[in-house]
Amino acid sequence: MPEYGSASIASDQAGDGPSAGAAQPYVQCRDLFKIFKPADLEVVALRGVDLDIETGELMAIVGASGSGKSTLLNILAGLESPSAGQVRVGHRDLLDIAEGELVSYRRLEVGFVWQATARNLVPYLSVTDNVELPMAIAGMGRKERRDRVRELLAALQLEDKARRMPSQLSGGEQQRVAIGVALANRPPLLLADEPTGELDTQMAADVFGLLGEINRAYRVTIVIVTHYPGVAQYVDRVVHIRDGRISSESFLQSTFQRSGASVEEEYLVVDQAGRLQLPQEYLAELRLDGLAIASVAGGQITLKPARRRPQRRPEG
Ligand code: ADP
Ligand code: MG
Repeated sequence: MPEYGSASIASDQAGDGPSAGAAQPYVQCRDLFKIFKPADLEVVALRGVDLDIETGELMAIVGASGSGKSTLLNILAGLESPSAGQVRVGHRDLLDIAEGELVSYRRLEVGFVWQATARNLVPYLSVTDNVELPMAIAGMGRKERRDRVRELLAALQLEDKARRMPSQLSGGEQQRVAIGVALANRPPLLLADEPTGELDTQMAADVFGLLGEINRAYRVTIVIVTHYPGVAQYVDRVVHIRDGRISSESFLQSTFQRSGASVEEEYLVVDQAGRLQLPQEYLAELRLDGLAIASVAGGQITLKPARRRPQRRPEG
C-alpha cells in the first residue's frame, strides 16, 4: 500500500498556504473544468475533476481515448490553462499564476515525458548531451551537470549508452533517456503521457519498473497516463477517468489466501456533493437512466430504477 513519509522533496516551497503545518496534498484539484472552444462548438474536456496527489506518490491515470487524460496532465504541467475550479501544485495556484512564474514552474517544477520517443530527445545530440541540455539552459555549472548526468544514467541503467545517439537506441532506451532529461533539473513532479505507448510489453514493463525505482530513490511525485494493462502492480494507485471526471480508483491489495498474491480492488469515487458515476455495465444492465429510487439500510445504499416516469398532472 502507498507509503507517504513526511519528508518533502518540495520542501523549498512549503508553508505559505492557509493551513501551513497541516499536511496538504501536493497536488489538489477541486471541481476542475477545462473547456476548449476551437470554433463555435465548445468541448468540455474536464467536467469537475476532484483529485489529490500526495508528495512522493506514484500514480497512474487510465481511461478511454478522449476522456480527458492528456488535458488533465497538460494542466498539471502548466501547458494548458484551466477554465474553472481549483488546481494547486505545491504552493502555486495554477488558475491564478503570472506568465513569468508559469515559465519557471514549467522549467523547474515539472519534468514531462511524451509518448512519441522522437518528441522527447534532440536527434543530433548524444544521450549525455540530451540529459545535460535542460541543465545548461537552467544555467548549471559544467562540473555539476556532468555529475548529475552520471548519476541519472546510472539510475536509469544507461551508463553504457552515454555516447550513443538517440537513433542508436531501442524505444525503451530512448524513453529511459527521456526520463533522465525530464529529471535533470530535479523537478519534484514527473508527468508522463503514455510513455510506453510505442513500446512492446517487455520494454514497457522495464520502463514502469524504473519509474518505480526513481520514485523511491528521489521521492519524486510521478503521474503516468497509460493504457498498460498491468500498471496497477507498478503504482500506488490507479485513477480512472471517464467523460472528464474521475469515476473510480483502484489499488492492488494483498489477499490472505496465498502469501504474496494480490488483487486489484476498484472503488467508486463519491465527491463531496455526493456525485458519483455508476459503472457503465450497471447502467446497461438496469437501464438506470433518468430517475432512480435510493434507499439506505444496514449501512448500504440501494439504487433502483424508477418503475415508470411520473405522470404529468392533467391540465385544467
Ligand atoms: P485523452 O488524452 O484521454 O485521449 P484528451 O484530454 O486529449 O483525451 O481530450 C479530451 C477531449 O478534449 C476530447 O474530446 C478532445 O477532442 C478534446 N480536446 C483536447 N484538446 C483539445 C484542443 N486543443 N482543442 C479542442 N478540443 C480538444
Ligand atoms: Mg491523450
